[in-house]
Amino acid sequence: MNKTGRYTRQPSNDETSQAAMDRDGVGYSLRGLVAQMRSSGNRWVQPGPAGDTDPNVTTVRLAESYGFCWGVERAVRMAYEARLAYPGRKIWITNEIIHNPTVNNRLIDMGVGFIDDVAGKGKDFTVVGEGDVVVLPAFGASVEEMLLLTDKQVQIVDTTCPWVAKVWNAVDNQTRKDHTSIIHGKWAHEETVATTSFASKYVVVKDLAEAQYVCDFILNGGDAEAFRAKFVNALSEGFDPEADLVRIGLANQTTMLKGETQAIGKLLERTMMERYGPADLKDHYMVVDTICDATQERQDAVYDMMADLEGTDESKKVDLVLVVGGFNSSNTSHLQEIPEVRNVPSFWIDTADRIDVAGGKIEHRMFKGDMVTTENWLPAGPLRIGVTSGASTPDRAIEDALDAVFRTRDPSFTGIKLAEEDLAGGEEYHELDASEV
Ligand code: SF4
Repeated sequence: MNKTGRYTRQPSNDETSQAAMDRDGVGYSLRGLVAQMRSSGNRWVQPGPAGDTDPNVTTVRLAESYGFCWGVERAVRMAYEARLAYPGRKIWITNEIIHNPTVNNRLIDMGVGFIDDVAGKGKDFTVVGEGDVVVLPAFGASVEEMLLLTDKQVQIVDTTCPWVAKVWNAVDNQTRKDHTSIIHGKWAHEETVATTSFASKYVVVKDLAEAQYVCDFILNGGDAEAFRAKFVNALSEGFDPEADLVRIGLANQTTMLKGETQAIGKLLERTMMERYGPADLKDHYMVVDTICDATQERQDAVYDMMADLEGTDESKKVDLVLVVGGFNSSNTSHLQEIPEVRNVPSFWIDTADRIDVAGGKIEHRMFKGDMVTTENWLPAGPLRIGVTSGASTPDRAIEDALDAVFRTRDPSFTGIKLAEEDLAGGEEYHELDASEV
């Protein structure tokens, strides 16, 4: 695609787009509450109403790691830059740029169109015409989609995270060496759909138990039909477990848990060593480190918050957890799951609109997907709130949610003043070298 002259895969980091992102609250907070918390030890103390003898002091603890990963921020930035770089041209995105409703709605407001994904038929590219601009999302697009768009002679802005591209390279390499890719991921997730398009033979395993099933087959054989039935939708076409599991390689969906991907890698390696012997292992098993830490770091930060509930340091304890992130974001659902399974009151919202300030209610989602409304969710008196957000959630979403919390607890609250100058913000870019991708 590079050779077409109609392909961009790096941000230009122009200041006008940065200013527009700040205005719209779709990037890292530089002066708002989140930026101010970041520069004061991830803490905030919000007094209650003036003159209250038992004030509703709210202490906020922001998780050590939270919100936008750098790959997602980079994708949003490139979409904004595309709008500026191609004024007057129709811009399309092949899917949600990221799993966040606020960001996606903002792009719609800017005249960016989303290509419909028609159930059972795939994406409807008929709307895209020659000369249009098409933005590929952070989790990438399949090989077929990229070829189709190249044929349509469109300008492609490829925001695929370099870490995702690194996984594709690993899979491409496995295919060239006639290895089957064992992909730790969810077969229907857009990133994994794109990753499988680089493999000629693959199995998608969603967890360690499914990987164990594959390994048992490698070691002991079994019923090929039952294997195909178990992994229906998660296998390459015509997959034959007897012939196609002799040489394998590991790959991953970047938002899966790092620890689980590593455990699956060790299991596969042990299995192939047992089956073919240590001397021949390299002919039967390929592995490259393609794990991105972003998802794991956000979850570890919530585990730390939970561990502190058992400790003696009162200043680290929270009474409830507020989780902010899109409802179709799987990494955010894990952030909700961690306190929920420990029976710590936790409230997952996608936007601040879920908080009914006047009614003192919140409509929130449980990690398994049920929507619940809780009345009087913010008890009177001093309250300690832990806050986190998913890897596709801009800082402004946390700021809006906390604004609603403070207004609920203090009707006279009028907002947090912006810092007078920009504060250090967000995760640093670490673009990979061309040799790494
Ligand atoms: S989670 Fe990691 S791989 Fe995925 S977009 Fe973010 S930085 Fe990239």
